[in-house]
Amino acid sequence: MYSTIVVGAGVAGTVIARELTKKDEKVLIIEKKNHIGGNCFDARDEHGVLIHPYGPHIFHTNSEVVRTYLNEFTDWRDFHHEVVANVHGKYMPVPFNLHTLKEAFPEEADALKEKLTAAYGMGNKVPILDLMNHEDPDLQKIGKFVYDNIYVYYTMKQWGKKPEEIDPAVTARVPVNVSYDNGYFADKYQGLPKEGFTPMFDAMLNHPNITVELNTEAKDVLKLERGRKYFRGEEFDGKVIFTGPLDEFFDCKYGRLPYRTLRFDFEYYDKADFQDGHSVVNYTVSEDFTRITEYKWLTGQDCEGTTISKEYPFAYTGAEGEIPYYSIANPENEALYQKYKADVEEYKDFYLLGRLAEYKYYNIDVMVEKALDLSAKIS
Ligand SMILES: Cc1cc2nc3c(=O)[nH]c(=O)nc-3n(C[C@H](O)[C@H](O)[C@H](O)COP(=O)(O)OP(=O)(O)OC[C@H]3O[C@@H](n4cnc5c(N)ncnc54)[C@H](O)[C@@H]3O)c2cc1C
Repeated sequence: MYSTIVVGAGVAGTVIARELTKKDEKVLIIEKKNHIGGNCFDARDEHGVLIHPYGPHIFHTNSEVVRTYLNEFTDWRDFHHEVVANVHGKYMPVPFNLHTLKEAFPEEADALKEKLTAAYGMGNKVPILDLMNHEDPDLQKIGKFVYDNIYVYYTMKQWGKKPEEIDPAVTARVPVNVSYDNGYFADKYQGLPKEGFTPMFDAMLNHPNITVELNTEAKDVLKLERGRKYFRGEEFDGKVIFTGPLDEFFDCKYGRLPYRTLRFDFEYYDKADFQDGHSVVNYTVSEDFTRITEYKWLTGQDCEGTTISKEYPFAYTGAEGEIPYYSIANPENEALYQKYKADVEEYKDFYLLGRLAEYKYYNIDVMVEKALDLSAKIS
């Protein structure tokens, strides 16, 4: 019945399914969760507030192709994303820029700005490490401030590292912006689908040649054996696009691919605002969580109360309910990934796509682009 089976209804699976229908393919998507959208899924909580259960997502891109492609399925709410850090109770814009300089060094800001612009030029970006290693003690001071107050503790929480495991020479490539731009992203297009991400995915999947089966784990229905693919016990000759974690599909037979996972603690407040209109506040010198997201300031929803989430990173173990979020890029993990990849290469028309199947972090726009590319290549 189906010419293609797609595993996973996230960005990768949804875009490629839709694309393949243009070649008259009949596509079945199997998705283990009880909803579509993958990590971009959004939904209203019990108070009617639109939240992102898997963490705040903002679409941003410089790609005309991707933007035009998605325009077919959604209108946009333009949203220029700005983030602040809570540094000992004071909000400071991040990435560090000339506004942050004023907050951090109120008395000396003008003189320090002169030095920064003379050394690096207005509008440029400079890695913290360059500042820390600069011969001028004032520029060193700025670098050290950013490293100590914005960077190091947040990085420790995010990646589960001890202070001595964070080597500034390796990691402090994060830039300081020598400008007054508070923007978190530099992309031309920034925003969220006007009605939410889930309706955008719904629109993409709303096609007579696409069937979605939720609550279906790939391992229960799809088998690879001696060069042949089987679906529900029958040999399947069509294409399989796999967007899930490859190690788990093979019962982690070579070992588990390491990931960081996240726990989101949601709290509802019966008041109009929780964090002074900021959608995201990073906690860079205190707390065990990395950031608080206040969803109404992200989505633009006009609601009386407000829902926030506190985000706690920890090591993924594969336990029930945990989600692999961030792959950990290093040569050892890449070698392990390549072992799994080699195992599927002998299977004809079996393709790996997406942040899990490729064991790589991708933003939404890149994921859309890669799905379009793969579709063009295989059909
Ligand atoms: C906390 C966080 C915040 C982010 N914020 C942004 C942002 O602001 N902007 C941005 O551009 N990008 C952001 N991203 C990246 C974005 O989430 C990814 O680009 C996107 O999710 C990748 O889509 P995907 O389809 O590859 O993976 P996913 O969204 O994870 O989709 C994979 C799908 O496959 C399903 N699946 C997995 N295994 C199986 C199986 N065995 N059987 C059946 N189904 C299976 C999963 O349930 C899931 O639905 C963020 C990522 C994280 C972790």
